[in-house]
Amino acid sequence: MSDRAYNFSAGPAILPEPVIQQAQKDIWNIFDTGMGVCELSHRGKHYDRILEEAEADCREVGRIPDNFRVLFLQGGATLQTAMIPMSFLPAGRTADYFHTGKWATEAIAEARKFGKVHVCASTEKGVFNHIPSPAETNFSENAAYCHYVTNNTIYGTQWHNRYPDTSAPLIGDMSSDMYSRPIDWSKYAMVYASAQKNLGPSGQILAVINDDFLATAPEGKLAAMLDYQVQAKKQSRFNTPNTFAVYLMGQVFKWILKEFGTLEEVDRYNTEKANLIYDYLDNSDFYVGHAEPESRSLMNVAFRCQTPELDALFIKQSAEHNITTIKGHRSTGGMRASIYNAFPREGCEVLVKFMKSFERENG
Ligand code: PMP
Repeated sequence: MSDRAYNFSAGPAILPEPVIQQAQKDIWNIFDTGMGVCELSHRGKHYDRILEEAEADCREVGRIPDNFRVLFLQGGATLQTAMIPMSFLPAGRTADYFHTGKWATEAIAEARKFGKVHVCASTEKGVFNHIPSPAETNFSENAAYCHYVTNNTIYGTQWHNRYPDTSAPLIGDMSSDMYSRPIDWSKYAMVYASAQKNLGPSGQILAVINDDFLATAPEGKLAAMLDYQVQAKKQSRFNTPNTFAVYLMGQVFKWILKEFGTLEEVDRYNTEKANLIYDYLDNSDFYVGHAEPESRSLMNVAFRCQTPELDALFIKQSAEHNITTIKGHRSTGGMRASIYNAFPREGCEVLVKFMKSFERENG
């Protein structure tokens, strides 16, 4: 039996087991060089190979068109929320932001330091329990760009089968659902994701930017590390990058290709896993799901019992079944099962089984 837990953490989150096993070996000796992956020069041929393969596999997984740049940056999604307005929100223009949760709130606060922000829709009133409908949305005229969070990690809501109906360049924070399903690049000017949910270790960013949009960023005016043009020209190697993070993301892309082949398959698997839990929630009067059904996230399932005392008991007793890190965020309370790509179906089955027995005993 594996000594690993059913880790429902929202992030940093579970990584694919074959990736961790490979990393264990490569930390010791990679490519038979007698050197570990963290001990290679970032300008040497071995790291060249790691970076080239990571980008090529990233493109293959995402079917990223040639006119998009792939950047491996640092500072997490949080730094992107500053770099984006610094680069793409010129004086006199307005950027539209969807206010759909905590990370959207943070992005708005950061953007306001650099320029004019218009909140085109907010679901705060319903404790961010749904994705705004077109009727709830009011775009500004001629926005510099429109920013939205495709999956709201804390509240467990996700955009499905539709996009913000804006004519402005669209920017998606995909931190918690990047590569969990196919991406229609024709809709986007840019997407970015913190790695620590579906892609690799924390602190690392994958940013994918359309060339024409990238060309509108100022060049040579910002601190070099914050300058998308510099980062693109230097192929994400302006300074010493987090070589281990790039390596690990590369391994995750290889795992997706080997294990699933396509993002359609990843999506099918994730839908199956999430439905195991949602189907049970729908048939239970004991548990309450946070998100409205049509906005439910396939990545983060937020739910609670009828009282905070029962929630606490649920968390305590579920730990005896190897279920860990399932406590919800303080703003929603209850529980949150984060079931990213690497989370096994078996773990969802174990959770549902426990939910059933807990309901039987306490309902
Ligand atoms: N956006 C979303 C959707 C997130 O889930 C998170 C982290 N949980 C962030 C942004 C912030 O990411 P980081 O801490 O890596 O800066």
